[in-house]
Formats: sequence, structure tokens, C-alpha cells
Amino acid sequence: MKILVLNSGSSSLKFKLFREKELLPSASGLIEQIGEKDSSAQLSFLDASGNNKKVQLNEPISDHRKAIKIMTVMLRESGMLADLKELAGIGHRVVHGGESFQQPVYIDENVIRAIKKLTPLAPLHNPANLTGIEVATEHAPRIPQVAVFDTAFHQSIPAHAYLYALPYYLYEKQKVRRYGFHGTSHAYVARQAAQYLDTPIENLHIITLHLGNGASAAAIQGGKCIDTSMGMTPLEGLVMGTRSGDIDPAILFYLARESGLDIDELDTLLNKKSGLKGICGDNDMRHICESAARGNQHAKLALTIFCYRLKKYIGSYMAALGGVDCIVFTGGIGENSATVREECCLDMERLGISLDIRKNSTQQNTIHEIQKKNSRISILVIPTDEEYEIASQTVQVISEI
Ligand code: AMP
Repeated sequence: MKILVLNSGSSSLKFKLFREKELLPSASGLIEQIGEKDSSAQLSFLDASGNNKKVQLNEPISDHRKAIKIMTVMLRESGMLADLKELAGIGHRVVHGGESFQQPVYIDENVIRAIKKLTPLAPLHNPANLTGIEVATEHAPRIPQVAVFDTAFHQSIPAHAYLYALPYYLYEKQKVRRYGFHGTSHAYVARQAAQYLDTPIENLHIITLHLGNGASAAAIQGGKCIDTSMGMTPLEGLVMGTRSGDIDPAILFYLARESGLDIDELDTLLNKKSGLKGICGDNDMRHICESAARGNQHAKLALTIFCYRLKKYIGSYMAALGGVDCIVFTGGIGENSATVREECCLDMERLGISLDIRKNSTQQNTIHEIQKKNSRISILVIPTDEEYEIASQTVQVISEI
């Protein structure tokens, strides 16, 4: 059995191919700068002797149609997939499922219409995801396709956590509410944590911290999400690479009145020029940690603000969950930055969180624990695998058709 996972962005296409019942990864690739002069495509795969191979192609790729064609050719030439017809299914990452989708779904005309209808909630992402679906359908019309939504895992959040204290009609008429994102990652690492702890997920209270360029936290009770830090859009919550996370909304009125910034400028300010980048001019946590260690004050401040916000979310989710069994770090920063993990677990012993500095600073690429022996709360580092999660949900959906 072969399953292809597609993550179609406005100018990029990420893909990953899985094989066998166990969903072993066999090839993955990225096509970037679609529609630009300097577009490129790369594919990594394991050859017949199990060696890692890479192929790179630099040529103009005018649109997603051409991108899928190139992906197909690369997969064929690598010997990984002779034809898209060989696939048992295609799983698509779709960013916004609104309140319409609480589960992954088999894609048909109604689903496409519903995703289109949700475009105002994710104007950049949903149209790009739809392009991926449409083009894949043209190329492989008979292959079952499944949509897996970033928001779906958070649909279990109760109303008191997803509603904002705004006039209620805004929710009723315009669906203004918290949706949350990174759902596939939070769901995947929570399940992995339960497996690692050898405890049924139903008996666990878990806080998952997905810390990448985008960052979010989730409070998970018995396998169900009860709160998450991202909101109606991915802008709310933690400090991120270029996004502010939580701020006083009145700052926007102030800036509009005093500095004359218009809506688009405010949008760019908060989404692209804030967060770590806004504070210290860089959004790469590796550089920030290095600069902070060299004594750069802005880098130190950015790191401290990032970790302090994280710590506050951990505390509030411990309260929301009524106690926690396990905290999970994942994403590029969560998996790799011992400094961030240490700073945000610092002085939390009274709350049952005791990090083992030595274990924390030993880099490993597999799931591992980093708490002290006597820590009441387990602290795990778990490499996320959103593509695997999408592939496995795709298999689940197509097995039920
Ligand atoms: P992601 O969006 O999950 O790919 O994560 C990207 C973020 O992970 C960037 O801010 C990187 O700087 C950060 N990152 C990757 N490797 C490391 C590392 N070794 N130490 C600190 N941050 C890292």
C-alpha cells in the first residue's frame, strides 16, 4: 500500500510518500517558489540498498499543475512510485476546517464546497490547499483523497474555552471563536506520549508544546483537547518567530490613531514583523540562543520573553486541566533547543516540574524523557511527524469507504 501526503501552500508543495501497512516513509520532497523564476524541486529517498539519496531540480515551475507533474516524474525516476495510479490514497493537509469538520474526511464535491466556504477564515491557506486537491484530482481522478484539518483536533474544546468575550452574535453570525491550529501535531505527540508512558491516553492529562516558527500549546485531557493557545487565526497565544501572540487589542486602535497605520500594515506588523524577529531582528532560535550566549541584550530579551510566555501558558493549562501528568516539547525549537526547554521549566519544582539538566542537554532524535527521577510530571521531547499523522488518518478514512 502506498499513501501520498500533500501539503500545498500558496507557492510551495511539500510531499511525502509512505509504503506498506506500517506507513514506512520512502520519499519526501519540497517544491518551492512555484510561479517564480528561481523555483526548485528536491526529492529525498532511500534507494534499494537503504542509502539516503537526494535529487535537486532547478527550473521554472509555473504553477501547481506543473509542480505535481514534476513530483510525479521525480518519484517515478527514483523508482519510488511508477504512477499515481499505484496509490491507495492521497492525504491533504487543510488548514481551516472551521466548525464543519471535526474529523478527517473523504473528499467529494460537497467537501470541496465546504472548504471553499471557509476561505474567509484562512484566506491565504485554504485556497492553496484547495489548489493541491484540484490538481491532484486532475492527475489521479480515481484515487481516494482525504482532507485532514489542522483545526479538527481542537473541535473538542468546550464553549467556555473557545468563545471570546465579544457580543455573542459575532459567533452566531460570523463564527468568530477560537479554532486552534497544529492539530495533527498535537494529536500525534499526545498519542506518542501515552504509548511511551505505557498508559492509556484516557487516563492522562497532557500539555503539548509545538514550538516551531509558528508555536502553540494545547491542554489535552483523556486524549481530547480542552484548550489551545492559537485562536481564530494562528496569531494568538505564544510568542512566535514573526507573530506577536497575545497582545492588548487596543494597541491596534492606538497605532491606527497615532501612527496612521492601516489594516494591512497592522496585519503585516503583527504577523510578519513581531515575535522574536520584532524584538531582536531574527526569528531563527539557533541564532538567538548563540547571540544571547554572547551577551547580545536584545537576543536575551527575545529568549526570555518567549520562555516567560510559554511558562505562563504551562501554568494556566495546569490549572485548566486540574493537574498534569506530562509535558511534551515538539517542533523545531521544542525538539532541538535545550536552552528554551530549560528556561521555561526553571523554578517550577513546586508545581511538580523538575527538569534534569544533563538529560535535557543530550540531543537525541527519538522520543526521550528529560525530567529528574523525582519529578512528579514527566517531561518528554517527541519529534513530531505531521505527515505520518495525515497518512495514518488517510488510511483510516479510506478503510471506511
Ligand atoms: P519548525 O517551524 O518546526 O521547522 O521550526 C523552526 C524553528 O526551529 C526555527 O526557529 C529554528 O531556529 C528552530 N531550530 C531548529 N533547530 C534548532 C536548534 N538546534 N536549536 C534551536 N532552535 C532550533
